[in-house]
Amino acid sequence: MTLIPTIDEGACSAHGDCVAIAPTAFALDETAVVIGAATDEELVAAAEACPALAITLTDADTGQVVFP
Ligand code: SF4
Repeated sequence: MTLIPTIDEGACSAHGDCVAIAPTAFALDETAVVIGAATDEELVAAAEACPALAITLTDADTGQVVFP
């Protein structure tokens, strides 16, 4: 599976947990932003760690939302 992350900028509280877990995928600006790729495992860990549930993961093959 290849997961595509998106950030709900309105929900993100910008503390950077996702950046700490998947620094190749996320960076911190005024909110977190997607900057590149990471393994699916890293993306799931980052999304699960997000206290604001601001990270959505979509399956690139099916278009289905797999998290949250
Ligand atoms: S973990 Fe969630 S709330 Fe925190 S910076 Fe990342 S997207 Fe924003």
